[in-house]
Amino acid sequence: MFGLKGDWSLDIKKRYFTLGNYAGGEARWCPGCGDHGVLTVVQRICRDKQLPPEKTVAVSGIGCSSRLPHYMGTYGFHGLHGRALPVACGIKSRRPELDVWVATGDGDCYSIGTGHWIHAIRYNMNMTVLVFDNSIYGLTKKQTSPTTPIGFKSNTHPTGAILEPLNPLTATLGISNVSFVAQTVDWNPIHLYETIKAAHDHKGFSLINIIQRCPVYSQEVSQFLQDNPENLLLLNHENGIPIADNIMRMFPNQREHDPSNMSEAYNISFNTKLTPVGLLYHNPKVPCYDDLSSKGNDMGVEEKLAGLNKVLDQFAI
Ligand code: SF4
Repeated sequence: MFGLKGDWSLDIKKRYFTLGNYAGGEARWCPGCGDHGVLTVVQRICRDKQLPPEKTVAVSGIGCSSRLPHYMGTYGFHGLHGRALPVACGIKSRRPELDVWVATGDGDCYSIGTGHWIHAIRYNMNMTVLVFDNSIYGLTKKQTSPTTPIGFKSNTHPTGAILEPLNPLTATLGISNVSFVAQTVDWNPIHLYETIKAAHDHKGFSLINIIQRCPVYSQEVSQFLQDNPENLLLLNHENGIPIADNIMRMFPNQREHDPSNMSEAYNISFNTKLTPVGLLYHNPKVPCYDDLSSKGNDMGVEEKLAGLNKVLDQFAI
């Protein structure tokens, strides 16, 4: 766990946080990497919402995107491969007042972290989860990931990936207690901003699959979407992601979609001909496990010990 660079007054109300207050170390991602844009948007949202840096935690696993906590001027935890979510859930259990952001990738979350991904959604703890989906293991130099398209050549599959890729949207929508699922692209900063902001506004576990450019190892995967926006399907609705007219014009294909409609969300995600961008599903009524797991956090030591002894006494013989 690492922390803040400066001294912080305890008088929170009188402070105004600038973008500089959310800046950590210099980002060392490759030039042109989509991760830079996501970091900038997260810092802007923190600034626009005036989130106190000392009450904000960025948590990650392993991968290129998992460097993000180092580049935030907040608290951070750079964890083990696939283990960002249990760390984030642990933080939320004990310190529910903290704002928790998770940076993970398609390999980190949808492969080695699969068990945690499923159960973190089921627990629906209040956190914003950014999945940087570049369809490749970038940090370890181009191995096939769960979302690598069939036929794509990598160092582990030099003649092309042989399995159909995992569909993170349909998989996430199928998990009990799912409450917020969206997809966006890193190269449209306004849609990216509005999507991440909506996710952060949601009380519960919000998952955003961000289609992210990796110009070094998987350029082709996102290039066809950048060059041909007709391959994208913009989801519109008054309860969806707010979109200005000038942004809407960038998307030749659009569809009205009520994010409370799970079966329609599933059908849209299942159709792999067009890549949806927008809010697929939103249910603000799903209970949050952190509301339950943090009960008793304010108890004193004696009260806790008395409760513990009472439970243990049940097993006395
Ligand atoms: Fe970004 Fe790809 Fe470079 Fe990793 S390898 S920093 S994902 S461009």
